[in-house]
Amino acid sequence: MDISTSLPELLDPSLWVYKSEGNANIVLSYAGSDPKYAGIVLRVRKTQNERGIVSEDGDIFSLEHEHDFQRHIISKLINSCYISQMQLIRVTPTFLIALSNSLSTVRPPSRQHKDLDTSQPWAALMSDHTIVPELQINDRAHAESNPETHGLESSESLPKVIAVEIKPKWGFLPVSPVINPAHSVKYTTCRYCMHQHWKGRKHEHHIQSSFCPLDLYSKDPQRVRTSLKSLLRSPQNNLKLFVDGMPIMLGQGQSIDKSFSVLESFFRRIVGESEAPNVAGVDHLVDLLTTIIVSDSLLQMLKYHQQNLDQYDIEGIFPWYDKLELDTKLHDPSIAEWNEIVQTYLRRISSPDAEMPRDWAECSLTEQLHYIYEFVLSATLKDCSVIITLWPEAEEDSYGRIRCDPGEGEGTIQLPSSTRLLRYKIRIVDIDPKRLGKIPSYFALDQNIVRHFRTLNVHKDCSLQSFTFP
Ligand SMILES: [Zn+2]
Repeated sequence: MDISTSLPELLDPSLWVYKSEGNANIVLSYAGSDPKYAGIVLRVRKTQNERGIVSEDGDIFSLEHEHDFQRHIISKLINSCYISQMQLIRVTPTFLIALSNSLSTVRPPSRQHKDLDTSQPWAALMSDHTIVPELQINDRAHAESNPETHGLESSESLPKVIAVEIKPKWGFLPVSPVINPAHSVKYTTCRYCMHQHWKGRKHEHHIQSSFCPLDLYSKDPQRVRTSLKSLLRSPQNNLKLFVDGMPIMLGQGQSIDKSFSVLESFFRRIVGESEAPNVAGVDHLVDLLTTIIVSDSLLQMLKYHQQNLDQYDIEGIFPWYDKLELDTKLHDPSIAEWNEIVQTYLRRISSPDAEMPRDWAECSLTEQLHYIYEFVLSATLKDCSVIITLWPEAEEDSYGRIRCDPGEGEGTIQLPSSTRLLRYKIRIVDIDPKRLGKIPSYFALDQNIVRHFRTLNVHKDCSLQSFTFP
């Protein structure tokens, strides 16, 4: 699903139900009856407060630009099997205005200061990775062919799909020699761990997380397990749990118990009452996620490119950026320019002397600009999310329609201490381009974080294992 097209049958607001929204987009779930659109969400752009320069390739905030950036740029860094495909569809102002009107009673008031951008020519169709549409279609067919069991408590009413969305953040410690010697703590304490202290200073009720991304990226099962438990205890905006597509609130007093009992129902569905797990559902989930994260290569790819695209640290990048002409500061690359930047980067990291970055003081103006763009690309990879979806392995009789070819990004995993199998897939989302104009705010935040951390006299070496929970 990756061709821009016109699908007029989808331009009916009654087919779409509000699911969620962020700063830039509203996401709607398909509620119609056509099975080929089951499990599809529609993303529509909201109005922007600020726009980039409209280049020959169009507005860099458009869905079209985001689509091309994922398809042609990010796919050169991260295998396309991990990238959630998006299909652009032509939309009309009439449809967007009708959609906007139909959403006015369901959108949170706190979000309503920005409306749908009714001038956008495109919307995007994407897979909803928090559900498995084939399971829903089969269950619907099963309920229709067995009406006597409809509504009764059975394994069919237990949760079918667990999805965990993780924002893994920065997976490396910088090695840039340009970092101010007074900020040498950056070489041992990771950005996320230092940022937690800064958030604590800025927000009175901030509960500090013991999550360290370096544990999550470590490939060491014990460290990965520790990091996942930390995330579940204090998810902030780094972990979201979905059960059958519905978000489960975590970290809010009693709702922790509720969310974890949902997990137990999920595993009971898989193994059956007779084999009911004797360890908590949350431990099962952590074990499964650990196995997937350690064996899959997505996080390692992310970490590799985050680090290699950020050779000089913001302390090396900002002085270069600051000297640029205003026009250059405001120019965000077109897709063709991004392509050149990525090709230059890939040539650099495949060269024999890739381990030795150019001496910062010796870089030409052209090289400086190139490394600024690399840094901005790294910012996209530092801010993306990863979704892991788990569901029961298909049984021939009831789920015979499901066929997935095993490969990178998906597979089968055995439930610990059971013979039952689960299917999983792992995808990367939120990989939109960042603006060059954000570099000054990146620098200001970085300096605030590190200066504040230095005043605390806290010593933490993130290259070592974090505190382990019992
Ligand atoms: Zn850390």
